[in-house]
Amino acid sequence: MPATATAKPKTMRKTSSSGNGRPHVDFNRITDEQFQIAADHMRLEPEIQLLLRTPYRELIVQIPVRLDDGRLEMFHGFRVQHNGVRGPYKGGIRYHHEVDLAEVRSLAALMTWKTALVDVPFGGAKGGVACDPTAMSRHELQLLTRGFTQKIDMCLGVYRDIPAPDAGTNAQVMAWMMDEYGKKHGYTPAIVTGKPVNLGGSLGREEATGRGVMIITREACKALGISLRGASVAVQGFGNVGSWTARLLGEAGAKVVAVSDVHGGIFNPDGLNIAEVVEHLANTGSVRGFLGSKDIDNEALLALDVDVLVPAALGGAITEQNAPNVRAKLIVEAANSPVTPGADEILRARGATVVPDILANAGGVTVSYFEWVQNLQQFHWPLPKVQEELERRMVEAWRRVHEHCEGGRLPLRMAAYIDALTKLAEATRQRF
Ligand code: NAD
Repeated sequence: MPATATAKPKTMRKTSSSGNGRPHVDFNRITDEQFQIAADHMRLEPEIQLLLRTPYRELIVQIPVRLDDGRLEMFHGFRVQHNGVRGPYKGGIRYHHEVDLAEVRSLAALMTWKTALVDVPFGGAKGGVACDPTAMSRHELQLLTRGFTQKIDMCLGVYRDIPAPDAGTNAQVMAWMMDEYGKKHGYTPAIVTGKPVNLGGSLGREEATGRGVMIITREACKALGISLRGASVAVQGFGNVGSWTARLLGEAGAKVVAVSDVHGGIFNPDGLNIAEVVEHLANTGSVRGFLGSKDIDNEALLALDVDVLVPAALGGAITEQNAPNVRAKLIVEAANSPVTPGADEILRARGATVVPDILANAGGVTVSYFEWVQNLQQFHWPLPKVQEELERRMVEAWRRVHEHCEGGRLPLRMAAYIDALTKLAEATRQRF
């Protein structure tokens, strides 16, 4: 939480284990552990491991904002550039009250693995501001975003570091970032991706992460012999990623029986009409209370007897504590780090398949790459071209990961890391 001129700074990380809260999870340890397991398996040279594990640059900034009620509040912002061996740093900006340096560092590392896995010419970065965007006015959010952009300006650049939206931010926030950056550097649409289409954003970017999740879920179902048509699906988190995933899986023939947001979830065994749930959320601020469905909490959603479970909210949703309750055959990580390593083992021992975040949610950065290319060339792609290119790249990434699995002997996460780290290690050896 931010510090105010009148109140003492509050602790920045809340710990909670309630139905809709998050237990405290050390995300840094998780990404380190996942990296180490794969690096050891691949027998990567210690020097390459050191170079790949260590973040390049970590920036901590303070952003004073005059709130609407006249108080001055001091916010803490972060930008971590993890690795740029394969191209400019790339990664989203998160606005959430639990954002801290350790979490941003861990998310930046995931971006390095992700961009390598889907083979887009970017490195990995992440940024964030510890704030509660749901409690701030549009004016306050704009001041915060402009202040943050000024403070991290020195490490941004179209060939240096390109932000995008993440949890708690959206196309509007990217528009303010682009505008603020442009005041100093001139018109530079390629400085952020995930902008409004009207300002140079790409068609298909808003839905891209969800579309990527749908494509990977479809491919995983094929490999597991699950028919997507009629498969029951539960989606935790109904923001950009969760709502698009639910909508597109529904269009692909799946039966989305449950969705949730931070306030809780809804369940209908006959399937939910996702377009109507989106409308209900826009009108009421929550998915709860949707006509014809039963309200459930987030823990109950995770434990539903469904074919596919898609955690699409925040990290640390499935831990050693609740993993024994998860009954889905296939868990697709639409969020970053939603399944902890301990939970991963429990799910695997039970015979469930976990599709890792760096593969499942890579559709967002893939279309961000298309947006950046369009901005640099000042030439717009039609929607079908964006969708076809995304489809091709996601299916190709799935095929490579599946190949590394050695017929199911290795978990998909390990296979995805092997694919990404192979490319990163090669690029590192060539540069050093
Ligand atoms: P968002 O802010 O649009 O939506 C987040 C959703 O999660 C909201 O419905 C919110 O109510 C819900 N939520 C928050 N805390 C929760 C909790 N404790 N329990 C249950 N639900 C909770 O964010 P988003 O952009 O959809 O991102 C969601 C996840 O996907 C994040 O982990 C993000 O890093 C990851 N991701 C996003 C993108 C992207 O393009 N936006 C790309 C790749 C990965």
